[in-house]
Amino acid sequence: MKNRLFYQSRLARPELDRAEGIYLWAKDGKRYLDGSSGAMVSNIGHSNPAVLQAMREQMEKSTFGYRLHFQTEASERLANKTAALCPEELGRVFFVSGGSEAVESTLKLARQYALTRGEAQRYKVISRMPSYHGSTLGALAVTGYAPLAAPFSPMMREMPKIPAPRAYLDGLDPDDPATGKHYADMLEQTILDEGPQTVLAFIVEPVGGASTGALVPPAGYMQRIREICDDYGVLLIHDEVMSGGGRTGKFWGAEHWGTVPDLISISKGFGGGYVPLGAMIARDDIVEAVLDAGGFAHGHTYAGNPLACAAGLAVIDEIERQDLTGNAAAMGDKLKARLNALKNRFPFIGDVRGKGLLLAFELVSDRTTMQPLPKELGAFDRLVNIAYDKGLIIYSRRTRGGISGDHFLVCPPMIVTEPQIDEIMALLTEALDEFAAETGLDKDS
Ligand code: PMP
Repeated sequence: MKNRLFYQSRLARPELDRAEGIYLWAKDGKRYLDGSSGAMVSNIGHSNPAVLQAMREQMEKSTFGYRLHFQTEASERLANKTAALCPEELGRVFFVSGGSEAVESTLKLARQYALTRGEAQRYKVISRMPSYHGSTLGALAVTGYAPLAAPFSPMMREMPKIPAPRAYLDGLDPDDPATGKHYADMLEQTILDEGPQTVLAFIVEPVGGASTGALVPPAGYMQRIREICDDYGVLLIHDEVMSGGGRTGKFWGAEHWGTVPDLISISKGFGGGYVPLGAMIARDDIVEAVLDAGGFAHGHTYAGNPLACAAGLAVIDEIERQDLTGNAAAMGDKLKARLNALKNRFPFIGDVRGKGLLLAFELVSDRTTMQPLPKELGAFDRLVNIAYDKGLIIYSRRTRGGISGDHFLVCPPMIVTEPQIDEIMALLTEALDEFAAETGLDKDS
């Protein structure tokens, strides 16, 4: 029979039968350990009984109430809960169905806010290279990932990019505040070059996601970009689509540095893989100004869907009840130490980084120069496929803006236990052994 379904490539994967905890089973009975929580989504694990029960209860009441016709208890409760988890200044919540929609919403609210202030010339949104903020054209315009953006460049407005603070590639000490200042000052320089009166916002992933491979900002960076944004009247957007929801060991990635943005986007772990759900969270005064000026000219049909909100609320309840944020911090430390130890066995592991259970390792041909592996090796696909065949799912991307380099995210659900970390490491070590043998790369033992 003709296969009518398509995604971005011809990649064929087995049919999923069921999933529970950190495991998924294909129809042929084979079990897979979800070492990347899908795409860093299934943060509380699969088939959580409390979430399923909350969804059943909501389904019996209503599954849709159009936002212009009804408020729902589920959406109001989730908005209150989400705002309560945010810094005080950020009190308003706007629901969407995914990460790209959440990012689009931040860009558009920022723009309308500038208009209310009589700053119509502000429209440029500075972002980082590499970065990932979504696949719709607005979010893609601020995404620094060449292969995804290039085909659509004539359809988008070019937006300024500054280098992501990849101290490990530039031979700089990430713990030295001078390093953070060095990269943050590039933001100031770009604002000056572009003309401060034209710059609307700066968007940043507090802990990097797929494009940088769990990049942790150097000392002082997050604080300095906040100061620079304030100095030039530029709004600061934290894209917490991946880093939000507890995965880094704090509910918000930015909590590690105590910095407060003007706008936040969240998705992925917010719906936890149970429902498509995302949100923009905004400063109260920004929302008030835009609503006073005639309203926010933006919205999606499924916004605030009661089933999605009921599931999202139950996901947060489970994160709190089981202290999964605490578990992400504790298990993340253990997993990171184990990944670091792999460097002794595999000299082609160049860097291990991340926070909590948002972790990644990067492969290189030379650890001192950080030269990437030859592109022809196709390591980013190859290692993922070897691991997949062994029943371990990890997530990879090209490190250097999508052009070359190979990093791998190891981000199991936040419910992961120590014995399960042993299992991840055993499978990963086996996969790396096989990868080394196949590619002829050196091994130390
Ligand atoms: N922002 C970040 C930081 C992301 O990681 C992603 C998804 N990888 C997005 C935005 C886009 O989210 P979605 O795929 O749900 O549209």
